[in-house]
Amino acid sequence: MSVLSFDPNGIRLRGGHFINGRLMDTDIAEIDVQRPSDHSSYGAIPEAGPSGVDRAVTAAKRAFHQSGWATRPPRERARVMRRWAELIDSNVGELSRLEAVGSTRPISEAATWDIHFAAEGIRFFAEHADKLGGDVVATRSDNLGLIISEPYGVVAAIAPWNFPLVMASWKCGPALAAGNAVVLKPSELTPFSILRAAELAVEAGMPPGVFNVISGSGHITGGALVRHPDISKVTFTGSTQTGIAIMQAAAESGLKPVTLELGGKSPQIVFADVRSIDRVAETIARAITANAGQVCVAGTRLIVERSIEQHLLELVIKKFDELRPGATWSQETTLPPIVSARQAARIHRLVQETVAEGAIVLTGGGPVAEMSRGSFYRPTILTSVHTDMTACREEIFGPVLTVQAFDDEAEALALAEHPSYGLAAGVYTSDLNRALRSVRTLEAGTVWINRYGRSADFMLPTGGFNSSGIGKDLGRQAVEANLRLKTTLIDFAEA
Ligand code: NAD
Repeated sequence: MSVLSFDPNGIRLRGGHFINGRLMDTDIAEIDVQRPSDHSSYGAIPEAGPSGVDRAVTAAKRAFHQSGWATRPPRERARVMRRWAELIDSNVGELSRLEAVGSTRPISEAATWDIHFAAEGIRFFAEHADKLGGDVVATRSDNLGLIISEPYGVVAAIAPWNFPLVMASWKCGPALAAGNAVVLKPSELTPFSILRAAELAVEAGMPPGVFNVISGSGHITGGALVRHPDISKVTFTGSTQTGIAIMQAAAESGLKPVTLELGGKSPQIVFADVRSIDRVAETIARAITANAGQVCVAGTRLIVERSIEQHLLELVIKKFDELRPGATWSQETTLPPIVSARQAARIHRLVQETVAEGAIVLTGGGPVAEMSRGSFYRPTILTSVHTDMTACREEIFGPVLTVQAFDDEAEALALAEHPSYGLAAGVYTSDLNRALRSVRTLEAGTVWINRYGRSADFMLPTGGFNSSGIGKDLGRQAVEANLRLKTTLIDFAEA
């Protein structure tokens, strides 16, 4: 067995809710949790109903007011968060196996990227604890005008399953650094790794109750959390459909501000003047097959200059062929499973619908035949597509790439437009002016030039335009979004 590969049946799981600094098994209803790699049930979680949610929010509210987390010198808060990050790093073996066993994250990536990236994100947010106190404004000279930033109180964080720990760290890190208490609801599909990380937060010195995790489904636990009257702000990452429901519930239950990181249908535009077509092919292939396409910023729509279309596609297919489908606990795996049989069926239905609309399957187009357990989908390329076809419009959340050819820049940029999403875009060209014109034109929260995908530049905020979201994760802006501003005017004219 390779160094990182592991026996999935040897993983010790502890499910439940993490409230007031302790892991507790509460509430009667249980949710069965399956491993995407083989669909076997490997654990269960309780489902927090309104009373379980209330217990967590009440603990958080008490900790916010009484633990000193918000009122202590901010560098002390930062020190605890840095220590938490260190503990996450040093427990990489256990956390990466917990992450990989029940998610779509291959162990080779979980152990070398996810866990350390989550820890580094927490460190990054901690650095802002004493940097965002507010502002002094120009007033008459015998007055002092202050804009004081303060934490909201209890922040509800709701996270998706595709990068469980990283997404949770992006939701909770900025809220905690700003001095808030947090109640996190991870996805019911991937509940375990963050529970262990929560224990490490307390070990690092975070006061009990400052960071809580509740388990359960979206509509019951998530719904009760968003509507709880003591929640002051909601930060969510997930689908656009759920984001809309959350925004509505947040508005109806106290006009709570929301940060929403939602779906996408991101284009990648390749001009014929690229320096290295091999390198571009590799990037395009990675941008649609990483995590089996289950990435919000997946580069799902290839828009390529007609003169290089055929050559580029040949190279991309070669890259697809190098991928090795397999279980997430095998170090050799480079194409992980689709998260559930239901999601795999949805991917296939959307591909078939697009074929019925006139698309041609250049490669892929169905499940990986040699994988008898789990749901694995072949990296797929659809050509002869039009902008209004299903696969060009809908977020598929699988390894499915559509291809459209263009003859000039204006046509490329027009094809890149999407009627609702605006999460990310990639442009490949060696013409600087063209690159900058594209940046100005593209309706996307992030534009990558001659590269694609996340980097360790945490200072760059991430977040979408239009139906892809509201607000930013990462960057100083993510911490600012967890602070509210109090305007103060002091008259000191009287001697
Ligand atoms: P999802 O919307 O189904 O679920 C996300 C979370 O919301 C889960 O914890 C779920 O239990 C909860 N939830 C569901 N319904 C709810 C409700 N009514 N009230 C409260 N909570 C509810 O999304 P998913 O399938 O877990 O994740 C995939 C989606 O996430 C994709 O659309 C992807 O693009 C998006 N995503 C976006 C980003 C980003 O940064 N923009 C990052 C990762 C994933």
